[in-house]
Amino acid sequence: MSALLTVRDLAVAYNGVPAVQPTSLTVAAGGIVTVIGANGAGKSTLLNALMGILPAHGAVSIDGEPVQHLAVEGRFDRGIALVPEKRELFTTMSVEDNLRLGRFRLRAEGRVASAGALERIYGLFPRLAERRRQLAGTLSGGERQMLAMGRALMGRPRLLMLDEPSLGLAPLIVRDIFRIVVELRNAGVAVLLVEQNARAALKIADYGYVLENGAVVLEGPSAQLQADSRIVETYLGIS
Ligand code: ATP
Repeated sequence: MSALLTVRDLAVAYNGVPAVQPTSLTVAAGGIVTVIGANGAGKSTLLNALMGILPAHGAVSIDGEPVQHLAVEGRFDRGIALVPEKRELFTTMSVEDNLRLGRFRLRAEGRVASAGALERIYGLFPRLAERRRQLAGTLSGGERQMLAMGRALMGRPRLLMLDEPSLGLAPLIVRDIFRIVVELRNAGVAVLLVEQNARAALKIADYGYVLENGAVVLEGPSAQLQADSRIVETYLGIS
């Protein structure tokens, strides 16, 4: 499969202190790739740099076209969307208004939101449809994650980047969210999934990278990582 996202030697530092060492990775069109790592490994920093929120060195391209010179809006227009770890919803606005904001930029450019855009998201997340008039601040943790994903999907991204979608959620809800991630992939959206929950992430990913202290220390097809003794001991527990 051809590469949708190609990252070469991406490096990020905070005030001169490296948080991500030169890192290279690839996400195939129609693939799920996971980056696993412990607290502070640099996972959020990596995604924020790919979205253009943080300045970084290195080359980033989408479908072979360089995007590292673009700000967040430009990268969004090329089809990259980020669901941040903190979800960042507008808590005093309704579910539906939060979703509509996901189309804001497209509408500003004259690409009018199709009437079906909301219904497509509600089809994917029926719980959001039932709660369309509820304030986002009153949603459960799982529903907030669904809303944050739905809002990102309103922009019809080609690459969806998810920052720890399982954080703070009960196992049953994590299963729901990850099932939807697989559905999205099956519908043609490539996914870059950053997770501390290595077990759940490797189960649905095609390929994985292990990040430690800002550097990739191991990578490979998920099945291979799941069987790797270093991964089992450090990230999956002895089972
Ligand atoms: P977590 O799962 O805890 O969010 P993470 O793998 O996402 O961890 P990052 O949040 O990317 O890790 O942090 C990587 C390193 O960069 C850490 O050492 C962290 O302390 C540092 N760091 C993160 N944000 C900043 C910042 N705004 N200023 C300075 N250092 C930062």
